[in-house]
Amino acid sequence: KATVAIVGRPNVGKSTIFNRLIGERVSIVEDTPGVTRDRIYAEVEWLTTRFNMIDTGGIEVSDEPLLTKIRHQAEIAIDEADVIIFLVNGKDGITAADEEVAKILYKSKKPTVLAVNKIDNFEMRDQIYEFYALGFGEPFPISGTHGLGLGDLLDEVITHFPKLEDVEEDDEVIYFSVIGRPNVGKSSLVNAIVNEERVIVSNIEGTTRDAVDTFIHKDNQDFVIIDTAGIRKRGKVYESTEKYSVLRALRAIDRSDVVLVVLDAETGIREQDKTIAGYAHDAGRAIVIVVNKWDMIDRTETSMQEFEDKIRNQFQFLDYAPIIFLSAKTKKRLQRLIPIIKLVSESHTKRIPTNVLNDVIMDALAMNPTPTVKGKRLKILYTTQVAVKPPTFVVFVNEPELMHFSFKRFLENRIRESFGFTGTPIHIVARKRS
Ligand code: GDP
Repeated sequence: KATVAIVGRPNVGKSTIFNRLIGERVSIVEDTPGVTRDRIYAEVEWLTTRFNMIDTGGIEVSDEPLLTKIRHQAEIAIDEADVIIFLVNGKDGITAADEEVAKILYKSKKPTVLAVNKIDNFEMRDQIYEFYALGFGEPFPISGTHGLGLGDLLDEVITHFPKLEDVEEDDEVIYFSVIGRPNVGKSSLVNAIVNEERVIVSNIEGTTRDAVDTFIHKDNQDFVIIDTAGIRKRGKVYESTEKYSVLRALRAIDRSDVVLVVLDAETGIREQDKTIAGYAHDAGRAIVIVVNKWDMIDRTETSMQEFEDKIRNQFQFLDYAPIIFLSAKTKKRLQRLIPIIKLVSESHTKRIPTNVLNDVIMDALAMNPTPTVKGKRLKILYTTQVAVKPPTFVVFVNEPELMHFSFKRFLENRIRESFGFTGTPIHIVARKRS
């Protein structure tokens, strides 16, 4: 999938435009108790094309001087995006800061589309012409607050996407990534996996110039470890900012089938761990919780159980994810990791035949009557699995509003009891059928 970034000096309306562009996307996961987070990265669908969008404005470090901030933002966009939307403010005309952005983008030779924001009506269109002077060709007039001109802008953006055949990913291969807050041992874990005996490894040049994925063959299965660049490529100033490492994690999650959420046994569970895990959950990826640095723990007979209880308590939304306690340093239990990744990936791609599924659901309903809301009873007609990665079930009912979260949860539990689905979220959607 191609990636688009919005770049521009502060107050030109980057976040407004970003929210406009992602706003149309309706999520099918309605009731997951997620954490509220700043959205700096999201998927957009325009006509038949899907791509990822980065709001680089959301990443900036607020106490940097303006020019440093602008330079960092542009560098992130150049590193991460295939196409850049260069946003300026039609009410202000060209400012020195705009010229600074233009200079950096121009040098990078990245495909760039110039958009002039705050052109709220037709009479204002004349104001766009002066922006030809920035040297990016035709400026596209848009209005974030009124939602005008975005279609024409996206039409143009899409024409600059790289050709699809370059980025196609293989369905037989399990793509996984390793995420977690700094110092939990992500790179140690990746290195430990890669250095293990009998693992055949090669590096694949990724689609962006700095990403290097690692190919692994083990147990008759191909795997690719997606590079979360925080791991391999360190050093640039902006990589130390938290939002930027979150962005890298989001990009890795986006390309993954399976996500390893790494916790640190020594420092315990932190708020940031939950936020990071929440991203993987919201993205519908298969998840394994890895408790690293288990060598640092004074093991008693109950220590593992206690830690597990804490995880289950703090990460209730990940109740489906298996937990593995290991040490990247001593390699203890490391060899169990690949089989678990394989297992959760199988759950993630599993399909249940409609007749078998309906037998299970009808049995469940026979024991537990459907709920009644304001004198009206929920009727379930039939259920069918419409997607994998993650498994998604559509339940046809008389009135979708009657299917509350708790009843969905009940169905989910029955489906899990009957079919497994270890390590993968399940989506259940109610649709009306009379
Ligand atoms: P990252 O920031 O998540 O990639 O973390 P690193 O892999 O750089 O590890 C952070 C620190 O934890 C380093 O000093 C590692 O040597 C140490 N570390 C990583 N894994 C383990 C482990 O399993 N046990 C112990 N004792 N230390 C570890």
